[in-house]
This record gives sequence, C-alpha cells and structure tokens, in this order.
Amino acid sequence: MDLWFYERNIVPGLSLGLEVTSTVHSEQTEFQHLAIVDTKAMGRVLFLDNIIMTSTKFEFVYHEMITHVALNTHPNPKKVLVIGGGDGGAIREIIKHPRVEKAVLVEIDRRVVETAKEFLPEISCGLNDPRVEVLYQDGIKYVQEHQNEFDIIITDSTDPIGPAVGLFEKGFYESCRDALKEDGIFVAQTESPYYDVNLLPKVQKNTRDIFPITKLYLAFIPEYPGGCWSFTIGSKKYDPEAADLSNWPNYPTRYYNPGIHKAAFVLPNFVRELIK
Ligand code: SAM
Repeated sequence: MDLWFYERNIVPGLSLGLEVTSTVHSEQTEFQHLAIVDTKAMGRVLFLDNIIMTSTKFEFVYHEMITHVALNTHPNPKKVLVIGGGDGGAIREIIKHPRVEKAVLVEIDRRVVETAKEFLPEISCGLNDPRVEVLYQDGIKYVQEHQNEFDIIITDSTDPIGPAVGLFEKGFYESCRDALKEDGIFVAQTESPYYDVNLLPKVQKNTRDIFPITKLYLAFIPEYPGGCWSFTIGSKKYDPEAADLSNWPNYPTRYYNPGIHKAAFVLPNFVRELIK
C-alpha cells in the first residue's frame, strides 16, 4: 500500500510529499495536531498541524545553524534561552558549546517534548542534561517576565500561526531585547526567502528597529519548502560576520564550521532586495 503524507498549500499550488512506511504516533494535543511518522526519504519525521518540523535525516542542518552562529559570535555564551524547540535539537547543539553553563527551553506544548523524548531520542537526547531546564509555558509571557538575564535567545518556533503568531511580532522582539544582557544576541528562524516573501521584510524591519546589528543568514535544509531557509540575528554588540572564529571550540558538527559561518551571510541579490 502506498501512503503519502503531504504538507499542503505551502503556497497556493505547492505541496511537499513524503512516502510513509509507518505511523509511529499521532495525537491532538491541547495546542496542535502532532504526528511522528517513518518515511523513506527523510527518516523519522515530526509534523505539527501537518507541517514538517524536523526529520532525523536532515535536522542537523537546521539545529546547528540556528545555534552555533550566535554561540560562536558571542565571546562568552553562558546562559541561553530557547523559545519553542520542544524536539530538543537546538538544546542538543547548545550544550556542545563548552562555555554554556545553563540552557532554558520554554515550550508551550508539553506533548512535543514528551513525544520527542519517547520517539526521537537522537534529537531530544540533550534535554536531560543537568545544565538544561525545561519549562512548559508561553514563550511570549516568559520573556516579558525576565530582564537582563540571557546571553543568547533563540526562537525555534513553528510557522507564524496559532500560538507562534506573537513570536514574529515587534513586541516579542522588544521583550527579547530586554531579557538579553547588554551584549546579548537574538536569533530566530525566519522561514523561506522564496515563499515567505511578506514575512521576511517585516521581521527584518522589526529586528532592525530594535537591535543595532541585524543580519540575515541562510542554510540549505532539504526538509523545508524550497530547501533554502533563513535565520535572522539581532545583536546588541557583536557582529556575527566579524566574529573571530580562529579559536572556535571545534566540537563535532556536520554542517557548521567557520567557513559556513561566514558564507551563510552572503545573500543572493533577490534576498538582499527582499530585506532592503
Ligand atoms: N524547526 C521547526 C520548524 O521551523 O519547522 C520548529 C520546531 S517546533 C518543535 C517549534 C515549537 O514551537 C513547537 O513545538 C511549538 O509547540 C512551539 N511553540 C509555538 N508557539 C510557542 C510559544 N508561543 N511559546 C513557546 N513555544 C511555542
């Protein structure tokens, strides 16, 4: 029997299909529909509301690139906050960095963390590390209640729908600025430069209005529509393009390295135009 799972209408007329070999888990949580399936092309895949979140085959690109660029820009990233990211992949990467003393994960949906621990152990394996604290609450509220505390804040969110809408709004960026220390760095996944052409300029403007240094960088991630994904950095002091990577800690990574760090900021002309 052929069974295909489709992320439908990414933009009108475009779907992404994966051939499924078995359904591992499926449930309606308080916040979203959660499914974990085994696929022929991408290994085990987590879907939230029928949108691909992560796959065991390609998650390393996303999770390395959402974390290590900022971690190796900041000279002393001791305390890191992740908003969303309940699969644990960003946390797994953050705790590779020898200077990190504490990583806090604030995930709105407890079931994402619980099912990732049960069915995606290679992604969630860092969540039980003693440096990691996992909290189940709305990340928007959490950052409003913390000031001058974090060296890095990472938004590893779902697309801007449902509880994640506010994670792309200016008010949230302002709260993140205030929750960061005076030399802190903010990073967010900011979707596809090919398909999210309305979101990207808005996020860039919001970030530029709030952080003195704002940069967009790209990574090539086959599991997401178009294969090219964007991340936005807002930094109070350190320019990620000027980071001195000659002494980076050189922990094991499969995508990130100092050359990729620098090259990721080289943008095609259409992307430059989009965020001008
Ligand atoms: N890498 C994925 C992608 O871009 O497709 C995103 C990872 S997914 C694990 C993002 C997580 O953000 C979800 O588990 C979702 O529950 C969580 N989330 C959404 N809105 C949130 C909010 N307001 N506060 C905290 N977590 C939130």
